[in-house]
Amino acid sequence: MLSLLFAAFFVAPSAPMTADVPTLLLMIIVTSLVTSGALLVLNGNQRNDGLQYWAGGLLLSALAHTLLLLYGRIPYLLTIVLGNALLSSALAGFWLAVRRFHGLALHWARTLAPVTVIAVLMWLFQHQFASRVVVSGFMLSLQAALVLWVLRQRSLGAAQQRSRGALLLVCGLGLIVLTMLLRAGAALFFSLNIASILQSNLVQTLTFMVSFLATLVSSFGFVFMAKERADQANLRLASQDPLTGAANRRALMQALETELARASRQHTPLALLMVDIDHFKRVNDHYGHLAGDHVLRHMVGVLRQRLRASDVLGRYGGEEFMVLLPGTDLHGAAQLAEHLRQAVQAAPCEWQGQHIPFTVSIGVAASADTPADPSRTSEALLQAADQALYRAKDDGRNRVALA
Ligand code: GH3
Ligand code: MG
Ligand code: MG
Repeated sequence: MLSLLFAAFFVAPSAPMTADVPTLLLMIIVTSLVTSGALLVLNGNQRNDGLQYWAGGLLLSALAHTLLLLYGRIPYLLTIVLGNALLSSALAGFWLAVRRFHGLALHWARTLAPVTVIAVLMWLFQHQFASRVVVSGFMLSLQAALVLWVLRQRSLGAAQQRSRGALLLVCGLGLIVLTMLLRAGAALFFSLNIASILQSNLVQTLTFMVSFLATLVSSFGFVFMAKERADQANLRLASQDPLTGAANRRALMQALETELARASRQHTPLALLMVDIDHFKRVNDHYGHLAGDHVLRHMVGVLRQRLRASDVLGRYGGEEFMVLLPGTDLHGAAQLAEHLRQAVQAAPCEWQGQHIPFTVSIGVAASADTPADPSRTSEALLQAADQALYRAKDDGRNRVALA
């Protein structure tokens, strides 16, 4: 495709530094069609990230550029009115795609308004070429700017990490805004000096070459955004316990190794709490398993509220949970454990109008802050916390025991 671009640029029959407009149009059409087809295939599994709207926008763009390419061979107004309206609806499709991606309402009236306005204005200015270029240039750049606006609003709202896909998309849309403004400005302040839309000059070359690049760049950007989101969702699925939202055992063990290595490097302590619900079997037997599930979620909520962002809460298995406390020694961990135990006992757990009382026992262990400490292996730390937990159970439950 790039070699076609260069061919169009250098083998152009007209003046140097200009490209053959029909060739450029053909490149935009082929690129839009191929990308749209690929997106529709990608979207086969009914994902809810707006890819289908982006594909629709690309199809409309291909159609619009086909009408431009057929200028002179089809009725004049078909190219002028329908062609521009389709260009506008392509941008409307991109607007819908970005809104859907961010879970915003789709507003069909607002989507169709610019398309209608452009169609009417093109009809009114059908005999004034320069006015048409100015109006469509401004309208299309405004539409692209609106898509940018949605992106900006969303990235301001959530403190998301920088998405490379979004950056590409912003570049592509920015290119559209700039080119359309440039085209409108050129028609407003100079003369475009062309007899038909297919005639080549510098402004024409820039318009369609940049449109081609913008189509590619923004489409790649949008697909990357969808991919980044899917990757994040997969990562969450792979590391989260689906019932409680706490880290799963795999993620927990990974975090334990990471934190132990960090503690060893930085000569800081690391504490571990093993939290087990007392007589949980009785909860299940008395209130049912769904109530038991609710108790698990409720307890995770109570614990999470009292932990720091750097602490790691995970489900070790069944009704047994683990809390990693980086930078905390045995004494601090014991205080926190007692605080957590009391909080669980005090927080009312309601299920279908019933009050479910329950308590937890907690085993506490910590690696000392000397590098030579043998408790600095994950197995040793886990075993120590587990033994402490058994002692808490043996001593009558609803208590904290230290390793
Ligand atoms: P102890 O005080 O000694 O810990 O007694 P316990 O009854 O809590 O301990 P035990 O290990 O005998 O029983 C744990 C129970 O937890 C058995 C199992 O059915 C239940 N359980 C494990 N996972 C889940 C779950 O995801 N949902 C529900 N509802 N119950 C679960
Ligand atoms: Mg238990
Ligand atoms: Mg247990």
